[in-house]
Amino acid sequence: MIDSKESKNISRLKITPIVIPRSQHIISRMQINDNALKVLYRLKNAKYKAYLVGGAVRDILLGRRPKDFDVVTDAKPEQIRELFRNCRLIGRRFRLAHIQFGKEIIEVSTFRAPHHISDKNEGQAKDGRIIRDNVYGDIDDDVWRRDFTINSLFYNIEDFSVVDYVGGIKDLEIGQLRLIGDPVKRYIEDPVRILRAIRFASKLNLKIHSDTEKPIKDYSNLLENIPSARLYEEILKLFLNGHAVETFILLRKYNLFKYLFPQMDQLLNETQKNYSYEFIMRALNNTDQRINEGDSATPGFLLAAMLWEPVRILSSEYISNNLSEVEAAKLAGDTIISKQISSTSIPRRYTHMARDIWTLQARLKRTKKKSLRVLMHPKFRAAYDFLLLRAQSGERLENLVDYWTKEQLDEPLAGKDKPRKLGNRSNSSYRRTRNSRKKDL
Ligand code: ATP
Ligand code: MG
Repeated sequence: MIDSKESKNISRLKITPIVIPRSQHIISRMQINDNALKVLYRLKNAKYKAYLVGGAVRDILLGRRPKDFDVVTDAKPEQIRELFRNCRLIGRRFRLAHIQFGKEIIEVSTFRAPHHISDKNEGQAKDGRIIRDNVYGDIDDDVWRRDFTINSLFYNIEDFSVVDYVGGIKDLEIGQLRLIGDPVKRYIEDPVRILRAIRFASKLNLKIHSDTEKPIKDYSNLLENIPSARLYEEILKLFLNGHAVETFILLRKYNLFKYLFPQMDQLLNETQKNYSYEFIMRALNNTDQRINEGDSATPGFLLAAMLWEPVRILSSEYISNNLSEVEAAKLAGDTIISKQISSTSIPRRYTHMARDIWTLQARLKRTKKKSLRVLMHPKFRAAYDFLLLRAQSGERLENLVDYWTKEQLDEPLAGKDKPRKLGNRSNSSYRRTRNSRKKDL
């Protein structure tokens, strides 16, 4: 394990990395996206160093298809811009180049030196958080600022070798997630690394190294100071990556779910493993299934599910105070959302969608009257799927489900959303996931 003191010395000594030649690893240019290759080659031809780094190298080595391709170089942002017409410089904390190819963006960053090995602590707040990160360096500086060893492997376009300074290859082989440097310092610098640890552990099925795991308990409260917009971005990465069920289980295990959905977390703690747990697990399983089958999954539905139990409970309070079901759902939705956005921001279009789904739950209770208007509501399909999830999770809604299933068959134009797959298949695979994970619960 390399701690920050050692890494400082090591970095000064310019340690020699392990270089794995092309003949000894499985990364071929066939697996690298054409646009990323174009960027790598153009940088190389202009006599800059250029490497593929991060998730793409890691995922290809694991035999997975990468989500995106990140490039790192010794060219400065302005020099990158000179090379690419389709380039935009972005970011305040890090200045990055985005090279745009149609809808696809290849992110190119310049080698930077880390803060935990710089003496001056420039760019760091008094509490150790990184506030600026623009000290340029070389590859052997850049490696130490990265989070996990498995995310710090560099694929060199010059000779197609993989460069490993931190033992990332070995960690990949043994399925281990390990922070580079002193874990406590690394979490203080950027507490979001705690959530990243959970994300990579669940998505890649890795074991978190004990040194990386230990401080999570004592330092997770630092997540309270993370800007709500950044936490929202993390929520999307955590729950829309096809492994939401495992991620949720790990977040609960490490008591981290409360930083993302505090209202739901509290209810889960009060009432162990009941309807609300069942409901969330089913909603997440359904989301995973959609993503793994190549369908889209909207954050609006996810949000509606994650906040449903607090909305349901508050609605019934309002109803007992003589509000109509629809009014109660609207008011409860507004109250729960305004509490939620003090933890994580949420774009308006998704809060609107969640509200629609919740109020439609009340409107779906009124059968016979105004069926057609409900059926034609653009969020009817999502609301119907939501109703199914509720029924499958233990609410006694069979009659309503039957009614709206039949109404839809009679009205083929009902709803505009693509049907969500909630049939038996989703149930059985849910059971599989649950059973295989039971030991973790
Ligand atoms: P994904 O598959 O989710 O894209 P990734 O590892 O590529 O995973 P990114 O968020 O795209 O993750 O970041 C790219 C790389 O930048 C990471 O692999 C890591 O080396 C570095 N990095 C990103 N976020 C941090 C962070 N908070 N602290 C240190 N290094 C980071
Ligand atoms: Mg990435």
